[in-house]
Amino acid sequence: MEDWVFSTHTPVHHTGHEPGFVQIVNYYRGSGCLCRKTSMVSTLCKQWKETGQEPFEWLPPSFILYPNITPEQEEQSDLKSFIAQKKRSIKTDEREEFKQYFERVRSEGKGCIWIVKSAAGAKGQGVLISSDVEEILHFTDSKSQAHIVQKYLEKPLLLSGDRKFDIRSWVLVDTQFDIYLYKEGVLRTSSEPYNATDLTDLTSHLTNHCLQEHSQNYGKYEEGNELFFDEFNRYLQSQHSVTLSASILPQIENIILECFKACKEHLSTAGFAYKSFQLFGFDFMIDEAFKVWLIEVNGSPACAKKLLPSLAESLIQTAVDPVFPLSQEQQITAENLFTKINYNLTQ
Ligand code: ADP
Ligand code: MG
Ligand code: MG
Ligand code: MG
Repeated sequence: MEDWVFSTHTPVHHTGHEPGFVQIVNYYRGSGCLCRKTSMVSTLCKQWKETGQEPFEWLPPSFILYPNITPEQEEQSDLKSFIAQKKRSIKTDEREEFKQYFERVRSEGKGCIWIVKSAAGAKGQGVLISSDVEEILHFTDSKSQAHIVQKYLEKPLLLSGDRKFDIRSWVLVDTQFDIYLYKEGVLRTSSEPYNATDLTDLTSHLTNHCLQEHSQNYGKYEEGNELFFDEFNRYLQSQHSVTLSASILPQIENIILECFKACKEHLSTAGFAYKSFQLFGFDFMIDEAFKVWLIEVNGSPACAKKLLPSLAESLIQTAVDPVFPLSQEQQITAENLFTKINYNLTQ
């Protein structure tokens, strides 16, 4: 029987090299393929762009943009390594494809608003929302990292008719490559009415707490701008005669599954001397036709304070206990809120 060590502090390049132990690590080292915004776009849009087959219908069309290098920048020695790196990536710059697609969608009357986010951005920082191609390209060219430009969902489902929200779901991939969805989820709501005509009014467009916190109305409608699934379900039933379980959660499960299927080779730890598990934070939006869209995937997700104790216990029960079996008395008896999605990634 092997000895196991549960290790959260080992530097990644040391994993699998603890003498005498086999390790279990709370991180899949290939998870950047989903959790870095640019990599997610290349992972999930690859087939679409290579074969012209329609993209996943739940992912807003997205393109990767690298800043253009000016001749002056080229001369600056302190930028040399950055420029070399950009030249290597130039093949994947998709500005021409973006321009064409922008025009096509606009001419088909499917909207012309796009959202620009930086590759490694988080918490709604450094975002531009715009319907002007030149402004978008000028914005990304003025930055020193890659960005994605993603179709903005112009007709989101709004709470009580006027406030936007996104949904955070927690997903666990365990050491056996099984996928679990946490039963609870949270809506992060906006404090201000949705304002489609003012794209600079970011508080009405971005639902991240760290932006909403600065609004005078923070907490006015929901404590901490958070609405949990039970209450949202009641809202959906009374206002729209739909339920989470019938209309929304099956779409969420399907998206999660498709995402992991698309990147399972990157996640695989086959042949490594350690095993991984990881908690992911999936961000979704719902449009006015009750269609669920994937917005992004986070690799070390924050958790609503109210849910944290129970999420942590469920996580230990699901991911750690099977590897380090406990005696009957030691086992956590709290309800485990992770439910397995019926598919194993080794299939
Ligand atoms: P971050 O890592 O900064 O949270 P997100 O991709 O989740 O990045 O974007 C931040 C917020 O911006 C989301 O919570 C959502 O409110 C809004 N948002 C992001 N993408 C879109 C989109 N395609 N359409 C409409 N709103 C979006
Ligand atoms: Mg280029
Ligand atoms: Mg994020
Ligand atoms: Mg987010």
